[in-house]
Amino acid sequence: MNQFVLVDCTTVDGALSQLNDGSVVKAAGVDLLDRMKNGTTTPSRLVNIRNISALRGIHPSPQGVTIGALTTLAEISEHPLLTSQYTILSDACGSAATPHIRNMATLGGNLLQQLQCWYFRSEEYQCLRKGKDLCFAFAGLNQYHAIMDYGTCPSVAPSSSAVALLGLNASVELTSAKRGKRTVAIKDLYVHPDANPTKFNVLEPDELLTAVTIPRPAAGTRSAYQKYGEKQSNDWAIADAGVVLEMDGNVCRKAAIVMGAASPVVRHSPEAEAVLAGKPITEETARAAGKAAMQGGPLQTAMQGAQPLSMNAYKVQLFPVAIYRTILLAAGQMGRDPSAAG
Ligand SMILES: Cc1cc2nc3c(=O)[nH]c(=O)nc-3n(C[C@H](O)[C@H](O)[C@H](O)COP(=O)(O)OP(=O)(O)OC[C@H]3O[C@@H](n4cnc5c(N)ncnc54)[C@H](O)[C@@H]3O)c2cc1C
Repeated sequence: MNQFVLVDCTTVDGALSQLNDGSVVKAAGVDLLDRMKNGTTTPSRLVNIRNISALRGIHPSPQGVTIGALTTLAEISEHPLLTSQYTILSDACGSAATPHIRNMATLGGNLLQQLQCWYFRSEEYQCLRKGKDLCFAFAGLNQYHAIMDYGTCPSVAPSSSAVALLGLNASVELTSAKRGKRTVAIKDLYVHPDANPTKFNVLEPDELLTAVTIPRPAAGTRSAYQKYGEKQSNDWAIADAGVVLEMDGNVCRKAAIVMGAASPVVRHSPEAEAVLAGKPITEETARAAGKAAMQGGPLQTAMQGAQPLSMNAYKVQLFPVAIYRTILLAAGQMGRDPSAAG
């Protein structure tokens, strides 16, 4: 590990004044310390924001709810307002990692964690995402990689909370000492590798993610999230789905269907959403939506539909099942799926 200066901050202004080129923010440090230990992140200054109490807490308002960036995944997964009205988010945060990690890990850090591609995470491989020319995953070990929208790099979006927050149409508040606050929708937070391989999100080096705001769901909204992994716990998703249904009785007015570990940037499935709009939620419509998701048209790239790599065709089978089950779970037609990880 390289030598660095550690600065402990207790106020937002204090932390912002420490941010400059070479400094890196540390929240709980679950992701960051991994990267420092494997030599892929080498800060000259570590700005510890963990003790800024103003960045913690869940604040309901008539417009929705605002969650401080340092609120832990465990706090979100257990909060009564979130478990009842924003179930997709409490489920996503409650399925991430392990109970121990969820007690430490923060919402801001979860959204901004870097990709888990083993080539990117290894000091030995100088890949496209580190500013070099080559992606090793295309010809290498790619069983956990993308099946859609991948262009030049098939690493997948790692954040469970991002799946939920995209489905809920949430936005983040970014704060800088010089430019003040700006609001960025979750759909615009991440940078696709084809646009810029070495920039993972739109944060500038002098910005902190200070809060997440979620609009109040329309009347009749129900939601759910499910994560499928190789293990029941202690691992990222190999497929995850988030579903938000605006219902009139059993008829779906509007649906948001979001997929996590399918593509480099968390994505909606407009095709699956179109299948459900104006229809009752039944096993048949839920299955059709899951199937339609694999025919997904271009979002960030010109890629049409699912195009698995040499080792991940199983994901083309798994995502439709995950989406089908999550739709039925959101609609209250299925109990929690015991095969999904948590
Ligand atoms: C075994 C294991 C399994 C896991 N499984 C899952 C899973 O299923 N789903 C999932 O989503 N995650 C999973 N994770 C990842 C884990 O949830 C994240 O590492 C954690 O949420 C990061 O939060 P943190 O507070 O520790 O962030 P940190 O490690 O402190 O920070 C992460 C990144 O965000 C930046 N950052 C953090 N906060 C801010 C801020 N407020 N403003 C600006 N920049 C900031 C940091 O500079 C750093 O680059 C897993 C991790 C492990 C070890």
